[in-house]
Amino acid sequence: AEEALRQSQKMEAIGQLTGGVAHDFNNLLTVILGGLDTMIRQMPSLPRSAQTERIERSARMALHAGERAATLTARLLAFARRQPLDPKPLDAGRLITNLADLLQRTLGETISLETVSGGGLWRTQADANELENALVNLAVNAKDAMPAGGRLTIETSNAYLDESYVAQVPEPVPPGQYVLIAVSDTGTGMAPETLAHVFEPFFTTKEVGKGTGLGLSQVYGFVRQSGGHLRIYSEVDEGTTVKIYLPRLMAEVAPPESERARPQPLTH
Ligand code: ADP
Repeated sequence: AEEALRQSQKMEAIGQLTGGVAHDFNNLLTVILGGLDTMIRQMPSLPRSAQTERIERSARMALHAGERAATLTARLLAFARRQPLDPKPLDAGRLITNLADLLQRTLGETISLETVSGGGLWRTQADANELENALVNLAVNAKDAMPAGGRLTIETSNAYLDESYVAQVPEPVPPGQYVLIAVSDTGTGMAPETLAHVFEPFFTTKEVGKGTGLGLSQVYGFVRQSGGHLRIYSEVDEGTTVKIYLPRLMAEVAPPESERARPQPLTH
């Protein structure tokens, strides 16, 4: 438990730092992109020449790179939990069913996708887009961990965790009622030294150009911001399971009588 606390304090500190830098950087980027955009828009009013064409090409290249930088800062801000989310009640099982085609295409032909969901799934509340992003991120990681093919299983279930559960596991999530999304691959797995760092932004074991080291930090930020918890279990040569615990949506009651639309008194 002490280790878990230390880890969460460390993530908090990294989040503060990255969030601050990403936020300021993003402001500068807005100015840069805005300037380039204005330049490109003015181009058609200039007389065409080889020179103006060169200038336009350069400006477009810079704009393109700037837009990629903007995606990076968005991921950093998501990790640092400074990105506004749009949480709505949702059915995780249905979201995954609807996403299955896209996930299968992401995984390619050598990896089979299996989605398992019990009936009577509780509803949760989260930003649906970000949850989809998170699942795609996990699928990309799983694919990279299974170069020779394999299986990705996404199992969704209700998880009612009481004190006796908490006593049994090494890094328990707080007791409560959750919708659990467990994403398991049959890939390379990770050594404990790797596992200890995977949530840190820019930590990657992939070659330059392949990994950014932002995937899991983004997923971590999203899950924490949604009031949920993330745990990863991994065994070298066996595979990896990522567990996303999203809080159960407890009450979805109609607004009280007093707040329902009713005839307004006439004021004139
Ligand atoms: P990236 O994928 O860009 O490297 P991530 O933050 O998503 O960034 O992952 C960080 C590191 O965690 C990866 O480089 C890899 O070493 C490890 N990792 C993540 N997911 C898995 C997985 N499913 N199996 C094995 N290793 C993984």
